[in-house]
Amino acid sequence: MNGLIVKGIGGFYYIKTEIGLIEAKGRGIFRKQGITLCVGDRVEVSLLDETEKKGVIESILPRKNQFIRPPIANIDTFIVVFAAATPKPNYPVIDKFLITAEAKSIEPIICINKCDLVSKAEAKEISQIYDSIYPVVLMSSKTGQGLSQLKTLIHGKKAAFAGPSGVGKSSILNALHPKAQMEIGEISKKTERGKHTTRHVEMFSIEGGGMLFDTPGFTSFEFGDDMEAETLGNYYREFVKYSPMCRYDDCRHLREPGCAVREAVESGEINKLRYEPYKYLYEELKNKRKY
Ligand code: GDP
Ligand code: ZN
Repeated sequence: MNGLIVKGIGGFYYIKTEIGLIEAKGRGIFRKQGITLCVGDRVEVSLLDETEKKGVIESILPRKNQFIRPPIANIDTFIVVFAAATPKPNYPVIDKFLITAEAKSIEPIICINKCDLVSKAEAKEISQIYDSIYPVVLMSSKTGQGLSQLKTLIHGKKAAFAGPSGVGKSSILNALHPKAQMEIGEISKKTERGKHTTRHVEMFSIEGGGMLFDTPGFTSFEFGDDMEAETLGNYYREFVKYSPMCRYDDCRHLREPGCAVREAVESGEINKLRYEPYKYLYEELKNKRKY
């Protein structure tokens, strides 16, 4: 029968099926072939023991996307979280999350947290960078602002958090799913001091439909070898509207004459806080050591 891996812990997987939760191990072939089973995988499982609900994972159904660290698959949505203040937004880092999402067919939701620390006008200015491209939620996990809007946006989807440390991902996860009991702030510092925690990934159903990966794991992304400076602009959705009008087909939107993207930046149609990070990331990719 088919099922969904909702939890993985020390080589054991918990699979949600039509007959309830099954505990299973993967066939030896997965390890031999270097295949990692992921939370979020749809799998074919056969029962070994009907009363104990134990089984074996026979095969993995085709994946929409996959990450190795943490090992999760089939993400529909990234909740890209950053703070309006403390820490200040780091725009190139935010774009890296968005570019990774675009490259992996994941729909991003922009979540500007800690809005209780800034004025309405400041929050609006930040949201304007993105709100013509992606859904944007102005949030405060402290006051509860934006929580129901976020719930609506992730309805029926498999969502994972992405964002730097300290922006409030665990706090938002707790607010969405109190049972997750994520360790926040002080407590997670304690574990860093060396207390051993079992490697464990899980996903939870949330009230109203939808599932959340309980990992604050995506705190940064490095571009993979498949990411090229030359095609970086294709991952900026608002650039793609203008780039067909650039004079040169291979325009990088830097200093080329007749660049429609740069003109759109100058006229304010493209936000500078998208264009400047683009240039920065372009240079980063250009300077990446090539073998
Ligand atoms: P994570 O590293 O992204 O998981 O962030 P945490 O959830 O651990 O939060 C980091 C710190 O920011 C903690 O001290 C939280 O209490 C605080 N914090 C989280 N959300 C908010 C918020 O909406 N407003 C304010 N003022 N502080 C927040
Ligand atoms: Zn151009």
